[in-house]
Amino acid sequence: MPECRSKAFHYRRLPTTSVIIAFYNEAWSTLLRTIHSVLETSPAVLLKEIILVDDLSDRVYLKAQLETYISNLERVRLIRTNKREGLVRARLIGATFATGDVLTFLDCHCECNSGWLEPLLERIGEDETAVVCPVIDTIDWNTFEFYMQTGEPMIGGFDWRLTFQWHSVPKHERDRWKSRIEPIRSPTMAGGLFAVSKKYFEYLGTYDTGMEVWGGENLELSFRVWQCGGKLEIHPCSHVGHVFPKRAPYARPNFLQNTARAAEVWMDEYKEHFYNRNPPARKEAYGDISERKLLRERLKCKSFDWYLKNVFSNLHVPEDRPGWHGAVRSMGISSECLDYNAPDNNPTGLCLSAYRTPEGRPDVQMRTCDALDKNQIWKFEN
Ligand code: UDP
Ligand code: MN
Repeated sequence: MPECRSKAFHYRRLPTTSVIIAFYNEAWSTLLRTIHSVLETSPAVLLKEIILVDDLSDRVYLKAQLETYISNLERVRLIRTNKREGLVRARLIGATFATGDVLTFLDCHCECNSGWLEPLLERIGEDETAVVCPVIDTIDWNTFEFYMQTGEPMIGGFDWRLTFQWHSVPKHERDRWKSRIEPIRSPTMAGGLFAVSKKYFEYLGTYDTGMEVWGGENLELSFRVWQCGGKLEIHPCSHVGHVFPKRAPYARPNFLQNTARAAEVWMDEYKEHFYNRNPPARKEAYGDISERKLLRERLKCKSFDWYLKNVFSNLHVPEDRPGWHGAVRSMGISSECLDYNAPDNNPTGLCLSAYRTPEGRPDVQMRTCDALDKNQIWKFEN
């Protein structure tokens, strides 16, 4: 936006940052594009260092070849974990080496646009309790075409299965703005790309280190930021592209377990909505959460009810009357259940036409019943 381009910054008054990039078995090209784009777009006075954290990758090019390559780059460090830590602990290991005032986390398949860093740092310099995300543009995973999200940015939400969702800015938020280039409050973050004051991140309890591999940590941090007195924002002047691959280069078996930890610690009675839509989650051994509950008490964090009313008031809270949700089973062929055809090519996770084809037909069919299939869970509403 022209307003973003014409904005001037007092570099010496902005906090400095360390960019932390954890990776596991990432492709050479995308990893290198990420590193170079950070180096090329970040003013030298603001960027203390880039900290790469190799989460015990086994691809050979990520060993000596990567070390040799980055040894020619200034301000790029490579840390290696001794065991597979998962993205939460890998990022935290990186953070322990950070010398900047602000921690900026990026995924290992990003491309920063010029001017991406200054708005994030300026915002945190002005309010230390703000956790700020860039606008995430989509990089096509096949062609690497960059799709700039030029209109009003989307903000983060979730559905009651606790999957992250994008949605448009509600009217009450737009009414609050004085200009188009103000940070936009967002109920949740996508997870991979954000900046936070190092001090404030530590005060907030960094991450839940009981979370493994991938998933759930973004909602956990989002709930915690809001419930414990901070704010989560997207800065419309900061643009970073992200490759949404069709398939990650690793298995992700821990989503439910991690998400159950988040629900147990932060969602109070509302966690039932999550469990009703994810019956197997009730059986997840999510481990010890006592420290996280103590943290919530220590920081005197607000309830999830407060969060819903004050931060995400446009989210529909379902009634969940017992017996009014679950599988819809055929009375003729009792092994078949009503199944929703999820659109599979949906890079942003945006649910544009839930339950409908583009022509407006309900996109459902009968399939073999599968108690673990989220596409077979239905709810009666009137
Ligand atoms: N990651 C990691 N260890 C893991 C899983 C993921 O370091 O066990 C890294 C991954 O390489 C990426 C970031 O964490 O830089 C987020 O993962 P990913 O991009 O696969 O998540 P998505 O963007 O698809 O949600
Ligand atoms: Mn990613």
